[in-house]
Amino acid sequence: MADLELKNINKIYPEGFQAVYDCNIDIKNGEFIVLVGPSGCGKSTLLRMIAGLEEITSGDMLLDGKRINDTAPSDRDIAMVFQNYALYGNMTVYENMGLSLTVRHENTDKIHKKVMKAADIADLKSYLNRKPNNLSGGQRQRVALGRSIVRDATIFLMDEPLSNLDAKLRTSTRKEIVDLHNKLNKTFIYVTHDQIEAMTMADRVVILNKGKIQQIATPSELYLSPENIFVGGFIGSPPMNFIKGHIDGNRFVSESFNVKIPEDKMKILTDYIGKQIILGVRPEHFSNEPISLKKYSDSVVDCIVDVVEFLGADMLIHFELGEKKLVSKIRARQSYSYGDEIRLAIKMDEVHFFDTETELRIR
Ligand code: ATP
Repeated sequence: MADLELKNINKIYPEGFQAVYDCNIDIKNGEFIVLVGPSGCGKSTLLRMIAGLEEITSGDMLLDGKRINDTAPSDRDIAMVFQNYALYGNMTVYENMGLSLTVRHENTDKIHKKVMKAADIADLKSYLNRKPNNLSGGQRQRVALGRSIVRDATIFLMDEPLSNLDAKLRTSTRKEIVDLHNKLNKTFIYVTHDQIEAMTMADRVVILNKGKIQQIATPSELYLSPENIFVGGFIGSPPMNFIKGHIDGNRFVSESFNVKIPEDKMKILTDYIGKQIILGVRPEHFSNEPISLKKYSDSVVDCIVDVVEFLGADMLIHFELGEKKLVSKIRARQSYSYGDEIRLAIKMDEVHFFDTETELRIR
């Protein structure tokens, strides 16, 4: 068992800078949790506090109900996999993996059994006699993971483990880490700034900004029900478009267009009639398909194509709507070029509305 609770955790660095504000996270045994956010949002600080490498300024860190704020890192049953792998270049993979047991003077039979079991799980059996310098980045990453498996930790912490790998290897190693999590059935807490990694790997994602938790949710909840403008803009690629306007009757009116709001969306907007509001439209919720132009005939906009990015099955059309530059992701059935006129339907059942002052999603 390894349920980890963070209760009202704050971190103020000695120079007075507050990096983490009042964080509350409940992590269940076996979960894959990803901490994600832009550079400087405090995700590494949070991870290092869990590892015991950084002092907690205030709040409680509980492992299976026991306060571990002051427990030494080596007594925490938590293993950290570092970004630079921290492998010893003069030792073989086998020796690197067994090191934590060798220094504890465990007997060689036990070390051998544990290393071989971990090598099997992390798919390292063919590399045990090599030195780290003779391995690829992805293989080194697996050795670092294998070493944590040998330690028998109950929680695995990873800080941007894929950042040293090239794009292709990153994708395959991403899958390997998820496979490993499934095999080990241990808690993984993983830090990244990459929302795609977060969305593809996590059971639940913790989104941080400026030291504060913005939302904790499953990837699909984050996509479908973002808590606020920050989450709406952070999750999704390319990010959500935000358009300022106000509500007039049952229409959303902005400087350059006005569209009908469906009845069930209007139900949540009754307090906002006549007020300023922000409309959030994901790029994939614009459409030039005839069926959508017909279905959403009350929410069609005429735009001028700016830049076209061909993605294969889809394309991104950057376009101008009045003064505003927006982006849509549509099927690549027709070709468009700079200056073309294009009619796009906004799928109004899929859009979100946000409060201009609080920036929270209206629901
Ligand atoms: P990145 O993705 O760039 O690594 P991060 O989200 O992991 O960023 P942290 O490394 O946790 O962010 O840093 C959070 C904030 O705390 C940053 O503004 C950083 O400058 C500050 N910070 C980090 N370490 C220290 C330190 N030892 N002393 C003072 N401030 C620090």
